[in-house]
Amino acid sequence: MMKRREIFILSCTVVLLIISMLCNTLYLSNILKEKTDLYVQDISNQSAGNLSYQIDSNLNYMEQLASTISRMPQLTDMSDFLQRKANALRFDLIAIVSQDGEIIKNDFQSDCFDNWIALNQISYEKTELFSLDGHALLFSVPMTNDRGNERVLVGILEQKSMQQILTQMNFDGNGLACVVDVMGNIVIAPTDPQTFMQFSDIIYKDGERHVSKDLKKMIDETNRKASGILYFSTVSNEDLILCYSPLNINDWFLITIVRQDLIKGDINIYELRSLAVVAGVFIVCTILIFLIISAYEKSRKRLEEITMIDPLTKDDNNPAFQMKLKALIAKNPPATFTLVFLNIKGFQLINENVGIAAGDNILKYMYRVLKASLKENELVCRSEMDHFFLCLRDTSEEVVTARIAKITESLNSFNEYTDIAYGLMLEAGGYLIDDPDLEVRTMQDRARFASIRAQGKSVCSFFGRTLLEQVRKEAGLNSIFDASIKHRDFQVYLQPKVGLSDMNLCGAEALVRWEHPEYGMISPSDFIPLFEKNEKICILDLYVFEEVCKWMQNSMEEGEPLIPISVNLSRTHIKNLNFLREFVDIKEKYQIPDHMIEFEITESVLINVEQIKLIKNMINEMHRNGFHCSLDDFGFGYSSLALLKELDIDVIKLDKNFFDDMNNQKSQNIISGFIEIAHKLGMKVVAEGIETQEQLNCLCCLHCDAVQGYIFSKPLSISDFETWSRARTAAGRPDTCAASLSASSASAVKKLL
Ligand code: C2E
Ligand code: CA
Ligand code: CA
Repeated sequence: MMKRREIFILSCTVVLLIISMLCNTLYLSNILKEKTDLYVQDISNQSAGNLSYQIDSNLNYMEQLASTISRMPQLTDMSDFLQRKANALRFDLIAIVSQDGEIIKNDFQSDCFDNWIALNQISYEKTELFSLDGHALLFSVPMTNDRGNERVLVGILEQKSMQQILTQMNFDGNGLACVVDVMGNIVIAPTDPQTFMQFSDIIYKDGERHVSKDLKKMIDETNRKASGILYFSTVSNEDLILCYSPLNINDWFLITIVRQDLIKGDINIYELRSLAVVAGVFIVCTILIFLIISAYEKSRKRLEEITMIDPLTKDDNNPAFQMKLKALIAKNPPATFTLVFLNIKGFQLINENVGIAAGDNILKYMYRVLKASLKENELVCRSEMDHFFLCLRDTSEEVVTARIAKITESLNSFNEYTDIAYGLMLEAGGYLIDDPDLEVRTMQDRARFASIRAQGKSVCSFFGRTLLEQVRKEAGLNSIFDASIKHRDFQVYLQPKVGLSDMNLCGAEALVRWEHPEYGMISPSDFIPLFEKNEKICILDLYVFEEVCKWMQNSMEEGEPLIPISVNLSRTHIKNLNFLREFVDIKEKYQIPDHMIEFEITESVLINVEQIKLIKNMINEMHRNGFHCSLDDFGFGYSSLALLKELDIDVIKLDKNFFDDMNNQKSQNIISGFIEIAHKLGMKVVAEGIETQEQLNCLCCLHCDAVQGYIFSKPLSISDFETWSRARTAAGRPDTCAASLSASSASAVKKLL
């Protein structure tokens, strides 16, 4: 496809080609004009030579006649003689004029001659040639007779005769000729004076500047007895050429006028044709360039559509959004807009459940809702998948958060595209555009980054100092992780589990603690989610597991009774199907007997059918290798009883949330139901986070198997745990659950049940 630059080069080439063709045409027409001028000039000069020659010949004849007559005896019939001579020499009138007034002439009546005689301008001394007011040409030759009488021989050529001579000079009858003197007086008038009359009109006509300029040149040149040429048009728009060539007689000039078209003939047609060719080429090239440009524009628009339009929403895509945002920022002061990144939570799951087409409809619907929520000078685009960007003309975090909440509300108010009523949840991140010099991509990264921090929360998180500090802190924790593993800064704490049947220690949960020499004690809630994201948790879990195995081996060697320990397993392990291998190896390495270690997995790992299958296999594998498996935090998230049917779980750990409101009958019924179901399915139930005697009493009555919580102990360091365990055994506990209940609390619980 042709580019703008190539079209420009093509256009320039065409323009240059046309200019050079025009120049060539003009050059040729100039050359032709010069040639025409030369040709016309040549003919005019030739005619002037011929005319001079003829006049000179006439003068010679007259001189010969004069000398003949001078030597002749007196003739009786002189008039007759003169008549014969006039006929022979083609003069109209030949006369002998004597000083004494005698005139002998042939038989011709001439007013010109009479006027000339009357004016008595006769010269008896020299030969003369006159123009008699343009009406006649008069040759006068002095002659002397033997009596001493002065006489002159006069020959007159009247206008008609003169014009006969001129007709030979007029371009084969196609032009007109006349003879003028240097002052412009007519010497021999043309046969048709009309053209000359028009010429004089043109001379005085305004605006014909080039004619008057040429006339000045003509006057100069005639004064120098030079020949020349002059172009002009008549008032009746006839284009003529005028040539002037000096005669070698007096100060006379021959002037000939001829029509330009007769001289130029086909030259004009040729000029017109070549101009037409240039015009044709110009038109063809212009059409071609126009076609190329319109084709280019069309393909440019298509390309723009491909590169600037999102195929799903049929509206701006991310590059178009970035371009518009850049322009918008440039036109406004800093901190005018907030850039918001939106991401639909769990959209992948929606896509898997409803299919790609319905998923696309949801995205289109979402785009429409976002677009409808915009105010003037605000922007929206779908950047990819289920990711959207908004540019809002609001700067306060509260206002932006409220707008996103409103968008979420409209999004869920009516869903016209799918039968499945999905509650769409958004993850939002905002960045107040306070630095307009930043790359738009960096701004988008900041908003996206803030949204990642918002994960799990339903509000918009904003990119700012706190976020950056948090990120830095996390980066710091990440950077010291490897060294901490190496230096064994991670400690295993044990939290006892007490069996409600005999109130004895029945197990413990291993919980990790990070005791950094420099930063002090770091809470698991600060680093577990972080290490789950970057998968360092796999290393940590294995570390904790090995520490537990080491301790258990130690206890065995020291002859201490062994209690079952549960170890937390992060969901991150599931990605690697062979993860259990390493745990089995460690178990074997430390020779831990079967069924003494339990893996706690959280139900949040169980997302879809595929994953349930995986977990099922994984649990079977655990059993094969002598591990127990418990379902942690049961009831915290979206618990499903169906899971219990699917999975071969050994223990259910009921989440602390269940027991926050133990006075509530419904809560008790639910707990009692769960315990009953679990028992029917052959599973044991451990209640977590138990803090009060009341909770404990209630759980006793509900036949819960074991309890873990502050009521017995917080997680303890291994040495503290050993001390605690010894102390508890030594103190001796009531051996039944009922015995542990005080009389008052038992009756209270009974009332509740
Ligand atoms: P979790 O597995 O549900 O562990 C129980 C948490 O509840 C522990 O917090 C424990 O200290 C706390 N707890 C126990 N009894 C009570 C009580 O009566 N009241 C209250 N308020 N809290 C109680 P901890 O040790 O801070 O651990 C938090 C979470 O971190 C754990 O929740 C677990 O999900 C995770 N975690 C801890 N250690 C590990 C580990 O080694 N590997 C993995 N993957 N996760 C771990
Ligand atoms: Ca746990
Ligand atoms: Ca738990």
